[in-house]
Amino acid sequence: MKSHTRVLVIGGGVVGCSVLYHLARAGWTDIMLIERAELTAGSTWHAAGGFHTLNGDPNVAKLQQYTVELYKEIEELSGQSCGLHLTGGVMLAGTKERMDWLKMAHAKGRYLGMHTEIISAAEAKKLMPLIDEKQFAGAMYDPLEGHLDPYGTTHAYAKSAKLKGAEIVLRNRVVDMAQREDGSWDVVTEQGNIHAEHVVNCGGLWARECGRMVGLELPVLAMEHMYFLTEDMPEVAEINASTGKEVITALDFEGEIYMRQERGGMLLGTYEQACVPWSEKVTPWDFGQNLLEPDLDRIAPSLEVGFRHFPAFENAGIRRVINGPFTFAPDGNPLVGPIRGLRNYWVACGVMAGFSQGGGVGLALSNWMVHGDPGFDVWGMDVARYGDWTTLAHTNAKVRENYARRFRIRFPNEELPAARPFRTTPVYDRLESHNAVFGDMCGLEHALWFAPSKTEAKDEFSFRRSNDFPHVAAESAGVREGVGLLEISNFAKYEITGGGAEAWLDRVLPNRLPARGRMVLTPMLNEEGMLIGDFTLAREADDRFMIFGSGLAEQYHMRWFQARLPVSGVTLRAHGLDLTGLQIAGPKSRELLSRLVDADLSREAFPFMAVGRFNVGIIPALIGRVTYTGDLGYEIWVKPEHQRALFDLLMKEGADLGIRLFGGRALNSLRLEKSFGSWSREYRPIYTPWEAGLERFVSTQKSDFIGRDALLRARDEGPKRRLATFVVDALDADVIGDEPIWRDGKVVGWVTSGGYAHHAKASVALGYVEAAAFDASAPYEIEIIGDRRAARVAAEPLFDPKGTRMRG
Ligand SMILES: Cc1cc2nc3c(=O)[nH]c(=O)nc-3n(C[C@H](O)[C@H](O)[C@H](O)COP(=O)(O)OP(=O)(O)OC[C@H]3O[C@@H](n4cnc5c(N)ncnc54)[C@H](O)[C@@H]3O)c2cc1C
Repeated sequence: MKSHTRVLVIGGGVVGCSVLYHLARAGWTDIMLIERAELTAGSTWHAAGGFHTLNGDPNVAKLQQYTVELYKEIEELSGQSCGLHLTGGVMLAGTKERMDWLKMAHAKGRYLGMHTEIISAAEAKKLMPLIDEKQFAGAMYDPLEGHLDPYGTTHAYAKSAKLKGAEIVLRNRVVDMAQREDGSWDVVTEQGNIHAEHVVNCGGLWARECGRMVGLELPVLAMEHMYFLTEDMPEVAEINASTGKEVITALDFEGEIYMRQERGGMLLGTYEQACVPWSEKVTPWDFGQNLLEPDLDRIAPSLEVGFRHFPAFENAGIRRVINGPFTFAPDGNPLVGPIRGLRNYWVACGVMAGFSQGGGVGLALSNWMVHGDPGFDVWGMDVARYGDWTTLAHTNAKVRENYARRFRIRFPNEELPAARPFRTTPVYDRLESHNAVFGDMCGLEHALWFAPSKTEAKDEFSFRRSNDFPHVAAESAGVREGVGLLEISNFAKYEITGGGAEAWLDRVLPNRLPARGRMVLTPMLNEEGMLIGDFTLAREADDRFMIFGSGLAEQYHMRWFQARLPVSGVTLRAHGLDLTGLQIAGPKSRELLSRLVDADLSREAFPFMAVGRFNVGIIPALIGRVTYTGDLGYEIWVKPEHQRALFDLLMKEGADLGIRLFGGRALNSLRLEKSFGSWSREYRPIYTPWEAGLERFVSTQKSDFIGRDALLRARDEGPKRRLATFVVDALDADVIGDEPIWRDGKVVGWVTSGGYAHHAKASVALGYVEAAAFDASAPYEIEIIGDRRAARVAAEPLFDPKGTRMRG
């Protein structure tokens, strides 16, 4: 075993071997993998080996497609069979809602280049004769489904990596590690110490323990999972004989079961409601290639449905039951990437579908390590979507919720209830007493909308417009006609101070820095000139700045900032909930604030994009003259101990102005009619500022900032796509996001977000269209729940296109 390596990968499951292979393929050959026991000795060896491309996040779905297509490559390279059975598969819908969901999944697949088909129950029966078609409303067929041999696949990755120069050491546990001052790692293993420039935690079932070696509590938890194998079934033999093919895979959402052929019988697995976590606190190191005690009673409710939906199973004998553990993150997607503040430590864990996702995870992580960027939009699986706010018990509750909902529909207006409330701000009770319906963002409660009574304060889950519709309309009107009040503590707020702050921000951000007492909007770019942030930057003094951005991306942005901070001269602080906020917006907002602030707030004295410190009544506050509603408005930032007093003061003083509370859904409606994009929807690392319409917020005159060269190249090459606002001829459902945009019978783009713009009285969609297919006067169609609705491009924002209200 060598004593120095460029990369040390911990864990020889399918994920670790894929990471090793991808690093080797990218040309990094001084790399090694250390495995505690034998390859596959974690959750990999007892997997059912199924793979599919479907995922709620289209970017993750794309990486799943890549994974499935990769198997041929590693088979050819290694000479090791992956035992591929590319049978195709049906996803069966038992209800109309599920059919709607499948139609939307199919629509998303169109712009990803997937080849799924929506079929009737009778057609599904032809493809998968074991079903009772009377039980189903229809199905989706996916040719890229099947199953493989987990052992063979893991070894195919490993052999391919070795052929390219990687080293694999077995029966050697990583026991501990410590970081040197230069960021490299001294790794202690049972067979001796290794000095590694980078460490990758692919510890699977032990990822938590490997994280704890460096003081990290990763949000992963293992769950028990069961599947059984039947004895040979005559029905299976008959299908094999009559079609000359294997039985295709099937996924039955209502039964919460999946199945495939295994030899002459079938394999059937379930995501049961009565799910059970495994090793909740510590994973024992002596757990090897063991299985857990099966408990068929736990899966009995699913089996009952299964027997009804697949009658042949009723007569089938059970040959073997497998119960094994595997890990999940709270939302069921992997945890991949570098860890904020921990140099040269990477993770690729929480991978619950290693045979669908392992290849994509390996590719993204190796790109990240070798080129400094994952090369795709990996937000859906970026470890930075969780922060230090998670706890073991919070993860536990969320993972169990996710497991039990694995095959459940998540409606676009559905907030998941487990482990809530978890993080709240001081005005939470105030908002609750006004019948707020709350959403959960990074564990933080924020108001979505306000109901007229306690009993009505509940969403009716739907893909269509729902019970919140008239109330969100009233909130939007409250803003546009008078003054609205919204809590904004869920924004991220960063304070940057010090003698080096100006120079550092000038390099990190592509826009010109504002003058003292002013703010600017600015994107942030990576080296490839792609959008990785979208901020309001405020300057309070020569050496004091504030950045406001997406709360969702706080860890993501802090990781980026911290990795680029100079050794001295700049102090960076994420305020989190140390700074809470309220926003007032609407034509009467100036009048309201003027009553409470002893200063001239006229247009001339405190104009649009001004920032300053004022007392609001007795409360010290930082106030910025900007709001995301596109109306006259103010963001008021105060310490948490003042937030309730500020809330009460604004509500009391605003009473005769008709002040109205509004929530996140009204804010969305208001920003849509202004064509304001939002982080993680319109602004993501797959778009350039030219494509996203943010060119006025980058200053190509500036001689040096991150991403400048690539940005100029992208400008000269011209945008590949264009962000546009569409008005959709919708019926009772608006876009949610990820719907295809059609022109002349072809898919030419995709929707990034949308909804109903209440003041403009229009169904709005924002989305990207291929540059060659963009014509502002052309007729388009946008597919909403399988129905192509006519859409036209709105050449300018539907509300206040000249911005007179906002600037007034
Ligand atoms: C019953 C069951 C059925 C499943 N069916 C499917 C399916 O059909 N399709 C699908 O895609 N997925 C399925 N899975 C999930 C799949 O098994 C996982 O996604 C996959 O195994 C995750 O691989 P991994 O490499 O991340 O983790 P693991 O397989 O757990 O690998 C981690 C490895 O790291 C090693 N290790 C950990 N710590 C150390 C250390 N300190 N030093 C050295 N080595 C260390 C371990 O020994 C282990 O070999 C199933 C899982 C179960 C339990």
